[in-house]
Amino acid sequence: MKNSKKIVTSTLVLFATIIGLVLFLNKEDETAQETEQTASSNEHPLIEGQPTLGEVEAPVSIVEFGDYKCPSCKQWGELIFPKLVEDYVNTGKAKFSYINVLFHGEESVLAALASESVYKQDPENFWAFHKAVFTAQPATQEHDNPWISVDKLKDIAEATAPNVDLAQLESDLNIEGTHIAEEVSKDKELVHKYKVPFTPTIIIDGVMLKDPFDYEKITSLIERGPKADK
Ligand code: CA
Repeated sequence: MKNSKKIVTSTLVLFATIIGLVLFLNKEDETAQETEQTASSNEHPLIEGQPTLGEVEAPVSIVEFGDYKCPSCKQWGELIFPKLVEDYVNTGKAKFSYINVLFHGEESVLAALASESVYKQDPENFWAFHKAVFTAQPATQEHDNPWISVDKLKDIAEATAPNVDLAQLESDLNIEGTHIAEEVSKDKELVHKYKVPFTPTIIIDGVMLKDPFDYEKITSLIERGPKADK
C-alpha cells in the first residue's frame, strides 16, 4: 500500500516535471521566434518629417543615421555620399534621408538641433548646410576637441541657408521644450528602435549595412529594386 502511494506520488511528480518542461520549452520557442522576427522583419524606418533628398516617388529608400560630430560620417559624406547621389538619387532610383544620432554628447545635440531648425526654416538649403557642417569638422585626430558651438552653427547657416532667421536658429538651440527639440527626440527614438550600433548606419529598404563603406553592397541592394518586387 505504502509502495503504490509512493508510485502515485512519483508519477505525479514526473508528470508535473514533464508539463513544466513542455511549458518552458514552448516559452523558449516563442522567444526564439520573436527574436528572429525582429531580425528579419526588414522594416524600414519611417522617413516622414525627415530631410529627404531625391524624388518622393523614388522606388528605393536609403536612410543614414549620422552624427555631425562623428569622423566616419564626415568620411562617408565625402567618399560615398556624392557617388550615391550621382548614381542613384539624381537618376530617380533612390531617395536619401538623414536621421540624427547623438553619440558624441552635447555637441552632437547642438548640431542636431541646428539641422532640424535649418530644415524647418529653409528646407531647400538644408543639404548645403548639412554638407558644410561636416566640412567644418576638423581632421580626424582632432575630432575630440570641441568645435561645434552656437556661433559656429550660426556662421554655417548664414553662409549656406539664407532663408534661416539666425535669431530663431539660436533660440531653437535651447533644447527645452521646443518643437525642434521634439524632432531631435523623435530621431533619438528611431536610433533606439533600430538599435543603431554605430555611425554612420545605413539602411536600404529595411536592410542595415554591416559596412557602410561597401559601395558594391549598396549598389546591389539598390539595383535589386523596391521591396515589393523582391
Ligand atoms: Ca530628424
